[in-house]
Amino acid sequence: MVKRVAIIGAGVSGLTSIKSCLDEGLEPTCFERSDDIGGLWKFKPDVEEGRASIYQSVIMNTSKEMSCFSDFPMPEDFPNFLHNSKLLAYFKIFVKKFNLLKYIRFQTTVLSVTKRSDFSATGQWEVVTENNGKEARDVFDAVLVCSGHHIESYVPLKYFPGIEKFKGHYLHSRQYKTPDGFEGKRILVIGMGNSASDIAVELCKKAAQVFVSTRHGSWVLSRISDNGYPWDQVFHTRFSSTLRNILPRSVVKWMMEHQVSRWFNHENYGLVPQNK
Ligand SMILES: Cc1cc2nc3c(=O)[nH]c(=O)nc-3n(C[C@H](O)[C@H](O)[C@H](O)COP(=O)(O)OP(=O)(O)OC[C@H]3O[C@@H](n4cnc5c(N)ncnc54)[C@H](O)[C@@H]3O)c2cc1C
Repeated sequence: MVKRVAIIGAGVSGLTSIKSCLDEGLEPTCFERSDDIGGLWKFKPDVEEGRASIYQSVIMNTSKEMSCFSDFPMPEDFPNFLHNSKLLAYFKIFVKKFNLLKYIRFQTTVLSVTKRSDFSATGQWEVVTENNGKEARDVFDAVLVCSGHHIESYVPLKYFPGIEKFKGHYLHSRQYKTPDGFEGKRILVIGMGNSASDIAVELCKKAAQVFVSTRHGSWVLSRISDNGYPWDQVFHTRFSSTLRNILPRSVVKWMMEHQVSRWFNHENYGLVPQNK
């Protein structure tokens, strides 16, 4: 009997899981709570409950060369670093090419996954789903959880004493969509990861002033590296990983610091990360 596999989510992990199941002769059923594929790469102007959310201008920080599926290169005419809409377009081409759409049940939320009473003998799971207010139960031989990891925002207000008296507006990057409405404002961006840096750069074109606050500093990298190649293509070569694996840690650390400091001197900006 062909084994049945439930896949939760039709983001990039869910889509590749559908294809992998088919490659292995398994029967996949993918449940997707929203109305489209792509997971967080499907930009919507409003934040949706239960789905990761991106801002309109998101451009990938990993290159198309290193981010494409290993058996399905991205189209020649796509740029090295894709806008979110282009990445979604790539997923659509992938889904069409391998005819994956028919395995996806849209607007169907997985409510629970439990072991069946005879699990020790069969290894089977009961999956309860909801579509249009109707619940359904189904039995599967395996379950792949591809539901994403950027769904909940973390806003630790307890570390901001007096926030209740703050008269301004505050939000998490999950809620940020466009710079509209921030014209002429003084803005503090807390944190200096990818989203914070992107958003600060975008806002500074409209705001009166933008401050970036970082607790531990950060290495600031360009997407473009040696000879104009994407940074990840230069960094993730067999040669450089072998070097990183065989050289003493202190030498590797020195080499990496040297590499990431070539663009500008982080010390001048007080940005050298505390933990390096
Ligand atoms: C702003 C931003 C930029 C990023 N840039 C990059 C990048 O440049 N390169 C890179 O490699 N990674 C990047 N990432 C990381 C990103 O997490 C991955 O690229 C990837 O999209 C994760 O895919 P996923 O399928 O695991 O999850 P998601 O894309 O989040 O998809 C999960 C899907 O599961 C569905 N789902 C969830 N719960 C249920 C349920 N109970 N029932 C049914 N369906 C459900 C959701 O609706 C969603 O469609 C970025 C992340 C963010 C937030």
